[in-house]
Amino acid sequence: MYDVIIIGAGPGGIFSAYELLKEKPEAKIAIFETGGPLEKRKCPIDGEKIKSCIHCKTCAIMNGFGGAGAFSDGKYNITNEFGGDLFNYVGHKQAIELMEYVDQINCEYGGSQTKLYVNTHTEIAKKCLQHNLHLLKANVRHLGTDINYIVLGNLYDILKEKVDFYFYTPVDTVEKTENGYEVVCQNQERYQGHRCIISTGRSGSKWMESVCSNLGIKTESNRVDIGVRVELAADTFSELTDSLYESKIVYRSKKYQDLVRTFCMNPHGVVVNENTNGIVTVNGHSYEDPAKYTNNTNFALLVSNHFTEPFSQSNQYGESIARLSNMLGGGVIVQRFGDLIRGQRSTPSRIASGFVKPTLKATPGDLSLVIPKRQLDDIIEMIYALDEVCPSTASDDTLLYGVEVKFYNMQVQVDKRLETCHKGLYVIGDCSGVTHSLSHASASGVYVAREIAKEL
Ligand SMILES: Cc1cc2nc3c(=O)[nH]c(=O)nc-3n(C[C@H](O)[C@H](O)[C@H](O)COP(=O)(O)OP(=O)(O)OC[C@H]3O[C@@H](n4cnc5c(N)ncnc54)[C@H](O)[C@@H]3O)c2cc1C
Repeated sequence: MYDVIIIGAGPGGIFSAYELLKEKPEAKIAIFETGGPLEKRKCPIDGEKIKSCIHCKTCAIMNGFGGAGAFSDGKYNITNEFGGDLFNYVGHKQAIELMEYVDQINCEYGGSQTKLYVNTHTEIAKKCLQHNLHLLKANVRHLGTDINYIVLGNLYDILKEKVDFYFYTPVDTVEKTENGYEVVCQNQERYQGHRCIISTGRSGSKWMESVCSNLGIKTESNRVDIGVRVELAADTFSELTDSLYESKIVYRSKKYQDLVRTFCMNPHGVVVNENTNGIVTVNGHSYEDPAKYTNNTNFALLVSNHFTEPFSQSNQYGESIARLSNMLGGGVIVQRFGDLIRGQRSTPSRIASGFVKPTLKATPGDLSLVIPKRQLDDIIEMIYALDEVCPSTASDDTLLYGVEVKFYNMQVQVDKRLETCHKGLYVIGDCSGVTHSLSHASASGVYVAREIAKEL
């Protein structure tokens, strides 16, 4: 019988365990995780023998200790302007304090030499505004994939002394018992705990739906963001990336009044495949170590789609578009911006002749056959607006990879303590719909741990 059972060893789960042990060193804690320990996580794509996703049983990129965050770029954005709505539950001030606390722990465990980019660049913000682009404010700690890995390794070393880790142990169902909760794992083993924290991230979104339906927890689902990953010469964006590292810019399209935004900017980074529930989409990351820099910068341009009644299957809508690109391209499609504007597909020779060399091996093709007109028009409009701030963004050779889909987990109904209608059952991190980022997910873990510690 555990005091607390945690499902998912991503940032949410890790920080819950960390803070619980700090507050209550004697607490009995178990963490169940679909994937493996950090050192066993290795994506088989090597660019030579294995060039694209082979759909492993558990995805090394998304599952395992460190969660989806382990091989992410390790950008911890300290802000309430994006990355989640934690402030709606804990208040603006406390949300920032929690994120700063997470930053402090990351520094303590190996990240202290990394840079905190503080956004006070009013000149850049002004320049953006003159072209209808809105620069959001955030402080960003860029750990980088390499340092993020070290921090996670150090955190694991202290957690493993006190926490029972069950790797390669996906939880099938969560059942309510007289004294708390029982988790039934896929291997049919059962474990009990007085309290249960669910932090299964985006990869656990489908599973989370079934848990909510079984336990009668209300949910809502109405948003999905669709777009492309843009890759261009790092110099094109250096004015922004040198001072801000990551700039989150929002644009309202003239034609449809849709919101389009930059997302997950990776200076000198690489574009990668992402596998969500068997559908291959695109993402990106970069390393802190200058030896691993590429000549390119990549970022996503995403169009937010909010649906209203009667439609409620926003994620399925996003999945269908991603599936279309998988059907046409066998995975991710890449197209030069110039080809898209001229209405022609990119071919291997057109890509090879471009000045921007792709960092991901994707299939040259035509994104206009995949992305709906409305979203594609929005993206093209924003590329031209960005071209005013960073000239040559709209150059012929700028590469667009599609599709990038940002699935939002359904919004799980939780109270101010992130507790569901069932006492002792908490839902945190990205699977709750409350957070969509490393810092917010980690902060939600710290917050819930403190709430539980008060009761233990
Ligand atoms: C390539 C990539 C780059 C990214 N870059 C950034 C970035 O730079 N900055 C940023 O803020 N965010 C980034 N993100 C998003 C960020 O990783 C997530 O917001 C964050 O990891 C969410 O944390 P979490 O703990 O809620 O969930 P996750 O990190 O997704 O962890 C959930 C864990 O639960 C496990 N799990 C799922 N279902 C079950 C089950 N039934 N039983 C047991 N275990 C289960 C999964 O295997 C996973 O390990 C990136 C994501 C990706 C994929």
